[in-house]
Amino acid sequence: IRAQVNKLLDIPFPTLISGEGSIKQSPTQLIQLKAHKPFIVTDAVLVKLGIVKMLTDALTEARIDYYIFDQVTPDPTTEIVNNGLTHYRDNHCDSFIALGGGSVMDCAKGIAASITKNKDIKQLKGLFRIRASLPPFIAIPTTAGTGSEATLVAVITESIKKQKFTIIDPVLVPDIAIVDPLLMVGLPPKITAETGIDALTHAIESYSGLHSTELTKAYSCDAVYRIFNYLPLAYTNGKDLDARREMSIASFNAGVAFTRTSIGYVHAIAHQLGGYYHIPHGLANAVLLPHIMEFSFNHSIYSYADLAISAGLATTTDTKLSAAKKLVNGVKMLNEQLNIQTGFKELKAEDITILAKRAIKEAYCEYPVPRQMTVSQCEEILSKLLV
Ligand code: NAD
Repeated sequence: IRAQVNKLLDIPFPTLISGEGSIKQSPTQLIQLKAHKPFIVTDAVLVKLGIVKMLTDALTEARIDYYIFDQVTPDPTTEIVNNGLTHYRDNHCDSFIALGGGSVMDCAKGIAASITKNKDIKQLKGLFRIRASLPPFIAIPTTAGTGSEATLVAVITESIKKQKFTIIDPVLVPDIAIVDPLLMVGLPPKITAETGIDALTHAIESYSGLHSTELTKAYSCDAVYRIFNYLPLAYTNGKDLDARREMSIASFNAGVAFTRTSIGYVHAIAHQLGGYYHIPHGLANAVLLPHIMEFSFNHSIYSYADLAISAGLATTTDTKLSAAKKLVNGVKMLNEQLNIQTGFKELKAEDITILAKRAIKEAYCEYPVPRQMTVSQCEEILSKLLV
């Protein structure tokens, strides 16, 4: 349903400001948005690394007042969103700057949505429950993975249920995305690798899903090219600015693609592993991606063949079948190169049925997948990930 509605909607693009040092343009952008006191949503790690100071120095120089909420933790919960809401109100802010990874950007989207509707975040679960403009919103990603700076979705965790839920509405697309690769040079190799494969998963699931269009295919192909060519470089040398720049754009472009088409079973299962065990989202996707590609292979040969050519893994002289196989092997080899693990020690055999049921339910409601999966097929895939 979501993908069909997405097709009918005119999903906005954020205004993209990119390049080394582009964070310094935040004050100008705020002024253009007629904002006076931004609520900076971020996390303690980014404060410690001095990344938040890069933003606040620019704001101070422009004499713009601000408030910092740095309590976001990976996979933000409803409690963190509610806490942020109180801070926003108590400090009389009028706009948002989300400076961080997907967790920070999604938490800021959640707070902004709650403020706008004056409702608890849980009441905004699902599709199109906001339908009103958010306060001015600037997203500044510090990981190259989720693409949340370009998407209409926020992923929030309900700790009691140990489950993630999504809020989906075009108003969640940020007004401005400031994509500054300099902010990513200190991202540790492991997070670089995992978040990079998250972006790859967006591009592949979007392209091979039933609702891809010429526009989204072009964005997916571009992202896949950049990821295969630059993620290994960003992983081995975090200070390689070319690699960081290419990955930051790949992540944005993959976000542009999947937010118009939706995702698939990699995400449906990864969301359960994240909600239940707090396994990092990118890592869950990376481990699952080859398995789901094999599961969907016979239904995705043309898509995989196109993407293999974009990645530089195959040429137009290859048969479709051979090119498609090269993409699957290419993903496996990329995972190996990035030292991605192959299973999860957190996963328990007794949890597999509930995780599989939840994943299939999520996919059934939301994702236009090329091949349908049953609960028992999902259980089988999860069993392969037991360590
Ligand atoms: P994250 O935001 O959870 O960050 C992971 C860790 O990296 C954190 O400890 C953070 O402090 C650290 N970090 C971030 N930037 C850093 C930097 N530049 N240098 C050093 N450390 C840094 O990770 P993520 O993968 O970006 O986001 C994951 C979340 O995003 C999940 O909750 C996932 O469900 C969600 N998600 C949202 C969308 C969307 O479109 N809204 C899409 C995919 C995933």
